[in-house]
Amino acid sequence: MRLCLKHNIRFSLFKKALWLGSVLLFSLLSVNTWAYAQQTPPDMPVYVVQPGDTAWSIAQRFSISVDDLVTANGLDDASRLDVGQELVIPGLFGVQGYLQTIEMPWGETIRSLSRKYALPLETFIRLNRLTSPAELYAGANVILPVREQQPLTGRRVTLRAGDSPLEVAGTLGISSWELAFRGDAVSPVLLLPQDVLLVPGESDGPGALLPAVAALDGDTSVVQGQTLRLHIQANERIQANGALLGFPLTFFADTSTSGLVALQGIPALQTPGLYPVRLEIKEPDGTTYRFEQSIAVLDGEYAYDPPIIVAPELMDPAITAPEDQQLYDATAPVTPQRYWQGQFVPPVDAAYVDCWPSRYGNRRSYNNSGYVYFHTGLDFCGQVGHPIYAVADGVVVFAGETVVRGNMSIIDHGWGVYSVYAHQSEIDIQEGEVVTAGQLIGKVGATGRVTGPHLHLEVWVNGVQVDPWQWLTNTYP
Ligand SMILES: [Zn+2]
Repeated sequence: MRLCLKHNIRFSLFKKALWLGSVLLFSLLSVNTWAYAQQTPPDMPVYVVQPGDTAWSIAQRFSISVDDLVTANGLDDASRLDVGQELVIPGLFGVQGYLQTIEMPWGETIRSLSRKYALPLETFIRLNRLTSPAELYAGANVILPVREQQPLTGRRVTLRAGDSPLEVAGTLGISSWELAFRGDAVSPVLLLPQDVLLVPGESDGPGALLPAVAALDGDTSVVQGQTLRLHIQANERIQANGALLGFPLTFFADTSTSGLVALQGIPALQTPGLYPVRLEIKEPDGTTYRFEQSIAVLDGEYAYDPPIIVAPELMDPAITAPEDQQLYDATAPVTPQRYWQGQFVPPVDAAYVDCWPSRYGNRRSYNNSGYVYFHTGLDFCGQVGHPIYAVADGVVVFAGETVVRGNMSIIDHGWGVYSVYAHQSEIDIQEGEVVTAGQLIGKVGATGRVTGPHLHLEVWVNGVQVDPWQWLTNTYP
């Protein structure tokens, strides 16, 4: 241990000496260079100090020591950094330009981004301290050196399995040897399938996808209980499907954005973390390929409701399980037509829109159980007989009595989206009826597993109960 420590001290002294040496040499060789260097980027990458940065946090970020940062920049006082101050970052050999942090876009991989920024893969991985490609989830912070004329313009193409480099080069109007050169390969036969090449051309869609996909975008993080939105803009008539958290993603043609859209609810009890979104894209000629990128599911930080005591039979699995299954079955079909338009409208009168006895996602304990339950909807205040309105256009798929949820109605809004209204005193609609947003559909009540009259509203998205408030305050898709 002692030897190691000594060695490290010696090594860091040696590094310091090297730095001092280079600084000295630098000053000796060019007396007037520093003023010039302030205008043109130096050989080392430059980081611009951001609000909240400290010498320590910057050193941490680039895996260097504070001493090295201080020495390289000739800082008198490491505790005094100004926002906007430019610092060179030592030790990142082969990296030049301004180091910027971008949000990892959808449709990119380590490979495709490193191509875009003309950065060797290994340097990219080192600069971002990556240990696994999954860390580059959509929305992750990525550090990239940006120089003049960068990101590079041009078209990035992905080699498909079975593509011959000669054919690909032919369609691009370049030789197969130039194609190899653009793929950092010494010979065309060494080009790998799924690799991303930068070739001449105008468009630059998502770098890791085939040119049929002009854009892939969506939410870059989701909170437990929220709805994830994914959007594909295609140059050709493609088909897309996918999977997330075991739920199949269905993409629908969306006239408002002239693209393909998929929506998926994230379960309220989903453990926060990174999860892969798997996409499969089929081109008109039948070529199918897959793309995978992770997304971060964040903690909803939901509140804990006080313990709730109800009649024991209302907690009996013999009653609750079939009823849960009934609700699940009723909201499972995915109607290809979208009935709803724009934001959902409030299901209660204006006076009660902001009055919630219990919010969605709250962790719950019934009859002294652990907090293993969560509140599957949003409760609105109301007295028996107060009106309930449909939140959006749709078709009634259930209207009737249940034990736990009392009198309940369910409306299908299409695309796997449903709204559920529970504990009603009165139901004014029938199965199969077409309803419009804001239509009176029933009355508030206290039927089923309740402690008093209120409206329990649920919104289901592709088999998952999500936060209804999100749908009442945002426009989907
Ligand atoms: Zn409720």
